[in-house]
Amino acid sequence: MIRQFELVERVKSYDKGANEDALNRAYVFSMKAHGAQKRASGDSYFSHPLEVAGILTEYKLDGDSIITALLHDTIEDTPATLADIESQFGEGVARLVDGVTKLTRIELQSDHASQAENFRKLLLAMSEDIRVLLVKLADRLHNMRTLHHIENPDTRRRIALETMEIYSPLAERIGMQEMKSELEGLAFTELNPDARESILARLEFLRAEGGDLVSRVIIELQNTLVEAGIKAAVSGREKSPYAIWGKMQHKNVGFEQLSDIMAFRVIAETEEECYRTLGVIHGAYSMVPGCFKDYISTPKPNGYRSLHTSIFGPQRHRIEVQIRTREMHEVAEHGVAAHWQYKQGTDKTDGRQYRWLRELLDILEHATEPEEFLEHTKLEMFQDQVFCFTPKGDLINLPSGATLVDFAYAVHSEVGDTCAGAKVNGRMMPLRTQLQNGDQVEIITSKAQTPSLTWERFVVTGKARARIRRFVRSKERDQYLKLGHAILEKAYAEEGYNFSEKALDEVLKKFQANSTSDLCAKVGAGHYTGREVMEAVFPGTKKKGRGWNVVPLSRARRKKNKAKEASIPIKGLIPGMAMHYAGCCHPLPGDRIVGIVTTGKGVTIHTIDCDILVGYADEPERWLDVSWEVESEQPDLHVGRVQLTVTNEQGSLGNLSMVIAKNDGNISNLKITNRSADFFEMTVDIEVRDVQHLTYIIAALRATSVINSVQRAGG
Ligand code: MN
Repeated sequence: MIRQFELVERVKSYDKGANEDALNRAYVFSMKAHGAQKRASGDSYFSHPLEVAGILTEYKLDGDSIITALLHDTIEDTPATLADIESQFGEGVARLVDGVTKLTRIELQSDHASQAENFRKLLLAMSEDIRVLLVKLADRLHNMRTLHHIENPDTRRRIALETMEIYSPLAERIGMQEMKSELEGLAFTELNPDARESILARLEFLRAEGGDLVSRVIIELQNTLVEAGIKAAVSGREKSPYAIWGKMQHKNVGFEQLSDIMAFRVIAETEEECYRTLGVIHGAYSMVPGCFKDYISTPKPNGYRSLHTSIFGPQRHRIEVQIRTREMHEVAEHGVAAHWQYKQGTDKTDGRQYRWLRELLDILEHATEPEEFLEHTKLEMFQDQVFCFTPKGDLINLPSGATLVDFAYAVHSEVGDTCAGAKVNGRMMPLRTQLQNGDQVEIITSKAQTPSLTWERFVVTGKARARIRRFVRSKERDQYLKLGHAILEKAYAEEGYNFSEKALDEVLKKFQANSTSDLCAKVGAGHYTGREVMEAVFPGTKKKGRGWNVVPLSRARRKKNKAKEASIPIKGLIPGMAMHYAGCCHPLPGDRIVGIVTTGKGVTIHTIDCDILVGYADEPERWLDVSWEVESEQPDLHVGRVQLTVTNEQGSLGNLSMVIAKNDGNISNLKITNRSADFFEMTVDIEVRDVQHLTYIIAALRATSVINSVQRAGG
């Protein structure tokens, strides 16, 4: 175990500004908090946070990160609270510890490997500060190093799989090659011990056969460079078993054919030397075509820089050579952490800890594939998305701002359609509630529930919106269908016939209908009368007695409108078009209004601030500029709607109607929407002349003692 003073010394050696006192206190705090807790290995639990801190000192992370590493499991596993940590170590550390704790909780939630891509995004989205992610990676690394102590093979396997699918790619994305390789190697050992063994055995065999090939190649390369006058350090190694395994799968070659199992690295002094080295090597050996990559002039999105080439090297062995400077090497191995170190070291005037962050953003701006870089490395990544869990632990990702209804539809259309309520993290929440990262959401469904038009006002996903609209449309059609059916039955009965849908098949074409139900719906919607259809089926009936007749709805409206045309108080309508006032917002003369054209229904007049209008935002062709006819003295009465809360006591309803009557209003409808012991809430429709009249009545109601609140009902 690293001793207290050792840890502090290590941090002080590279971060002169680190708070020594805080480091000491964090050490003691964590040790006390974890107390007698033990690891699966039998070691004291405290050894774990301490090792995690130790790993991060290798990456030369700042004092706060080290303190965070020491404290990272205290909130989840000990009685310590975030408030304790904040009061003792300040807000910055508290925020970091909180961030790591959140990642840990998410991690415990489910089997993520199957949804690795989403889960990686979730982790990135939740790591508002990249140091949170670095601590989490170090935590995972130490857990992997001690994985063999866990007895349950299923648990070991799950952790290893998660590491392979999620954490190792994450480490790679932020450029931490060394971390990536170690995580990968440890996971491979657990997941595929047989493959690993056979690769190791084969390498052993090759070594025995060819002697120490790696050393010989190093010497030969070194000599070649010295002859050319280049001072550079050459190192080499066999590729890791997992890397070889990957290549065997990737290139679909067996071990026998796999030739490039050795990788060599040349560390040159300057960038120019890198290119000269490349020239010398290409001059001395033949190069494998198609393997040369220049990541110096075009860095990888994660900031990685190097020259890569493959050659038929000494003794005709195919080898891979990477050429880079010392600084490039550090960045390659340590990623963002090294990047931070370098920048901090070179610019003493601005030693601010977040300087490296701005540097990262610089790379972002100059990267060749900024989007990819953004996706993989920027801190506030995926802020436009939100990731939530189903109770089974499946991860659902939605645009940010998505609500519980969006979630329900994302799970399944059926779940959305019948969604009656929802629990978020175990608590019932209103359906319009917006989701937060990591929420666990349980949707409660009911067969009796159907989509509501009001949902459309708060959903953000296209799928939810489309399903809601479709449902509302099909419900409308259902009503037309039933109505049409009834109209036809009645029309038939008038003439003494029995209505049969089958007979309609003959006349579908005439009425431009696709099916008998389509024709019924058309009758219901008023496009044709029942009699028109019947006469088409029985061409002889025309001359029979007049009897009962149905005026088509559209014509009926037209007639009615014609009679009233002079008195329609709206300007800007299309002549002959049916018009009605919207039931959602009840526009009154004096309101600013707009007309919405609805096929088969004419024009609906809404107040300009009606919520429903949002739904028509994409269809400007349906909007009609209308206004009230101000000149004409309007004797017409219009219905205005108000919402009231009234004290639940004797006589309060009488009082209410009296006040309205006194002020020349007339209650046309009244509905109690909610009743409690003390109050009831109600909606009252009042016939008034115009908006001023309604405002006047509202004022009078407000002045009435039994009435608690009054407001005009909006759309
Ligand atoms: Mn831990």
